[in-house]
Amino acid sequence: MTESPFIQEVNKRRTFAIISHPDAGKTTITEKVLLYGQAIQKAGTVKGKKSGQHAKSDWMEMEKERGISVTTSVMQFPYRDELVNLLDTPGHEDFSEDTYRTLTAVDSCLMVIDSAKGVEDRTIKLMEVTRLRDTPIITFMNKLDREIRDPIELMDEVEDVLKIACAPITWPIGMGKEFKGVYHLLRDEVILFQQGMGHTIADNRVIKGLDNPELDEAIGDYAEELREMMELVQGAAHEFDLEMFLAGELTPVFFGTALANFGVDHMLDGLVDWAPKPQPRATNERQVTPQEDKFSGFVFKIQANMDPKHRDRIAFLRICSGKYEKGMKMHQVRTGKDVRISDALTFLAGDREAVEEAYPGDIIGLHNHGSIRIGDSFTVGEKVSFTGIPNFAPELFRRIRLKDPLKQKQLLKGLVQLSEEGAVQVFRPLTNNDLIVGAVGVLQFDVVVHRLKAEYNVDAIYEAISVSTARWCECDDERKLAEFRRKAESNLALDGSDSLTYIAPTMVNLSLAEERYPDIKFLKTREH
Ligand code: GDP
Repeated sequence: MTESPFIQEVNKRRTFAIISHPDAGKTTITEKVLLYGQAIQKAGTVKGKKSGQHAKSDWMEMEKERGISVTTSVMQFPYRDELVNLLDTPGHEDFSEDTYRTLTAVDSCLMVIDSAKGVEDRTIKLMEVTRLRDTPIITFMNKLDREIRDPIELMDEVEDVLKIACAPITWPIGMGKEFKGVYHLLRDEVILFQQGMGHTIADNRVIKGLDNPELDEAIGDYAEELREMMELVQGAAHEFDLEMFLAGELTPVFFGTALANFGVDHMLDGLVDWAPKPQPRATNERQVTPQEDKFSGFVFKIQANMDPKHRDRIAFLRICSGKYEKGMKMHQVRTGKDVRISDALTFLAGDREAVEEAYPGDIIGLHNHGSIRIGDSFTVGEKVSFTGIPNFAPELFRRIRLKDPLKQKQLLKGLVQLSEEGAVQVFRPLTNNDLIVGAVGVLQFDVVVHRLKAEYNVDAIYEAISVSTARWCECDDERKLAEFRRKAESNLALDGSDSLTYIAPTMVNLSLAEERYPDIKFLKTREH
């Protein structure tokens, strides 16, 4: 039976994000991946920290100034017969909240590792998040043009530290200045590396068969070494197993160098061949499958002023089922309101374009005039809310104050809007008029002051405050909650969405409160 055009469109989609430690090469890979997608003709325009050029995926001025990627952007490009959506995640250690939420909107992840360094902190943290949903992981061991660590040792480290089995798909021949290429275990062919092809799609020489004498002629002693190594590897390493990959238990491993654009296409082939098509998503009522013809989706990210000329805010929505068509009416589940959407955006290689239609797995951008929040579900009428979009208790706190006290209203408006976007969290204590700003990463504080000035025209400054952590408070028993609210009042605040929050001066205070009020749940993460 042939599939309907709708199902064909769904099955074409691969939606993924890159997880890596800063400097492992995420931006460089993004650039090369787009090159393969022919979205940009000559790589080198994505981001040049040194050249002063900026990533197509970097929108905000702040990013340009700092040369880091603060925002999550979306890039769509064709590869072979499929359509790939790459969701960019902020690479810097800060802004982890946005990254975490982006990972709820993808079906697979590419893990990029700096092969000279191995598994680093941030990769460990991000992998923990992907484990929550058993997201399938593809691994790219980058920087083979440098002196790297032993490939077997690298894979052992991934297995030990990240608790995921490694199945090498390609195997490196030499490294650094002596990097010769890779052997593709499944295709039984050697792909030879050529220098100086970083900005183009190279037509690499391929030698079929490990025993081919051409190999000895091409790479000399490395040929024999490779044959011995492959005997060892094929005996000791895991074989690729699609089911284990899809269950998140095994990762196919590719070796290459993003900078010299070698090996990225092998990884992309693996991605379109094996990575899952759009997957079902859970709601509070039932599982929603992408093949359902009624539209649904959830907002995982809100971004303000991506285009300074428009001064708009864009809500990023992952389509979970059905088709988006220009001009359609959507039902916003939280507010119960119907809205007609005629100007959603897609993100072909970072350029915003008005979209006529979009399918499950795609991300569309909705213009937001303040009524959309992170975690919002949109349907065509059904009252279901997608679950699993996290909010994290902040770990850093500052009191925020105005230079000009007359602008208190604008300040509050700005803070509440920024908190709806997830840029920062804001707390208003029950017993005084302070405004406390909470963040997961310290850079968020700078962003907030910068944006308050640029977008709300208020000059704000921070003061230190002795708060060490915050917890959302919940209790099924209304009476107990009211009593808690009265007794613990001086440590309680309301957050941007008016949820009750315990503000703990020290961790000791928190454990005492937890002991004293056993019926109250003190939550470190919360769903939107
Ligand atoms: P990100 O922070 O993960 O986005 O990393 P970038 O893509 O910005 O790369 C960090 C640095 O590593 C840059 O100076 C890149 O030019 C460099 N880099 C990326 N890939 C490679 C590679 O394959 N080989 C070498 N030698 N350097 C690389």
